[in-house]
Amino acid sequence: MKPYVDRELCMGCKACAIHCPDIFKIDSQGLSEVIFQGDNITGTALKCAQQAEEACPTGAIRAQKAVNLMDDHSRGV
Ligand code: SF4
Repeated sequence: MKPYVDRELCMGCKACAIHCPDIFKIDSQGLSEVIFQGDNITGTALKCAQQAEEACPTGAIRAQKAVNLMDDHSRGV
Protein backbone atom coordinates (compact mmCIF):
# COMPACT_ATOMS: atom_id res chain seq x y z
CA MET A 1 0.00 0.00 0.00
CA LYS A 2 0.91 3.62 -0.36
CA PRO A 3 0.68 6.18 2.42
CA TYR A 4 -2.42 8.32 2.23
CA VAL A 5 -3.07 11.92 3.30
CA ASP A 6 -6.60 13.09 4.05
CA ARG A 7 -6.36 16.64 2.77
CA GLU A 8 -9.57 17.58 4.57
CA LEU A 9 -7.70 17.00 7.84
CA CYS A 10 -4.25 18.32 6.86
CA MET A 11 -3.47 21.74 8.30
CA GLY A 12 -0.20 22.19 6.42
CA CYS A 13 2.16 22.11 9.40
CA LYS A 14 4.87 20.64 7.09
CA ALA A 15 6.07 18.10 9.68
CA CYS A 16 5.62 15.11 7.38
CA ALA A 17 7.35 16.76 4.43
CA ILE A 18 10.29 17.77 6.60
CA HIS A 19 10.59 14.34 8.21
CA CYS A 20 10.01 12.29 5.03
CA PRO A 21 10.79 14.50 2.02
CA ASP A 22 10.83 11.49 -0.32
CA ILE A 23 7.27 10.59 0.64
CA PHE A 24 5.38 13.82 1.38
CA LYS A 25 5.50 17.27 -0.16
CA ILE A 26 3.65 20.47 0.60
CA ASP A 27 1.83 21.49 -2.55
CA SER A 28 0.89 24.92 -3.90
CA GLN A 29 -2.24 24.92 -1.69
CA GLY A 30 -0.09 24.50 1.41
CA LEU A 31 -1.29 20.94 2.05
CA SER A 32 0.58 17.67 2.13
CA GLU A 33 0.50 15.33 -0.81
CA VAL A 34 2.06 11.91 -1.24
CA ILE A 35 4.87 11.93 -3.78
CA PHE A 36 6.07 8.40 -3.11
CA GLN A 37 6.18 6.52 -6.39
CA GLY A 38 5.21 2.88 -6.41
CA ASP A 39 2.43 0.71 -5.10
CA ASN A 40 4.02 -0.60 -1.93
CA ILE A 41 6.05 1.29 0.60
CA THR A 42 8.52 -0.84 2.56
CA GLY A 43 11.60 -0.72 4.74
CA THR A 44 12.93 2.61 5.96
CA ALA A 45 10.42 4.54 3.86
CA LEU A 46 7.54 2.70 5.53
CA LYS A 47 9.07 3.35 8.94
CA CYS A 48 9.34 7.04 8.13
CA ALA A 49 5.72 7.16 6.95
CA GLN A 50 4.59 5.42 10.13
CA GLN A 51 6.48 7.95 12.25
CA ALA A 52 4.86 10.75 10.25
CA GLU A 53 1.47 9.15 10.85
CA GLU A 54 2.10 9.08 14.59
CA ALA A 55 3.43 12.64 14.62
CA CYS A 56 0.77 14.25 12.43
CA PRO A 57 -1.17 16.61 14.74
CA THR A 58 -4.45 16.12 12.91
CA GLY A 59 -4.36 12.39 12.16
CA ALA A 60 -4.40 13.07 8.43
CA ILE A 61 -1.84 10.41 7.47
CA ARG A 62 -2.56 6.74 7.02
CA ALA A 63 0.40 4.42 6.64
CA GLN A 64 0.45 1.13 8.52
CA LYS A 65 -2.94 1.50 10.18
CA ALA A 66 -4.68 1.52 6.80
CA VAL A 67 -3.04 -1.80 5.97
CA ASN A 68 -4.29 -3.32 9.22
CA LEU A 69 -7.81 -2.07 8.63
CA MET A 70 -7.81 -3.50 5.13
CA ASP A 71 -6.47 -6.81 6.41
CA ASP A 72 -9.18 -6.93 9.07
CA HIS A 73 -11.80 -6.17 6.45
CA SER A 74 -10.56 -8.88 4.08
CA ARG A 75 -10.65 -11.38 6.97
CA GLY A 76 -14.20 -10.35 7.77
CA VAL A 77 -13.24 -8.96 11.20
S1 SF4 B 1 1.99 16.34 9.43
FE1 SF4 B 1 -0.23 16.12 9.04
S2 SF4 B 1 -1.09 18.18 9.25
FE2 SF4 B 1 1.15 18.41 9.03
S3 SF4 B 1 1.44 18.73 6.80
FE3 SF4 B 1 1.66 16.53 7.20
S4 SF4 B 1 -0.41 15.67 6.84
FE4 SF4 B 1 -0.62 17.89 7.08
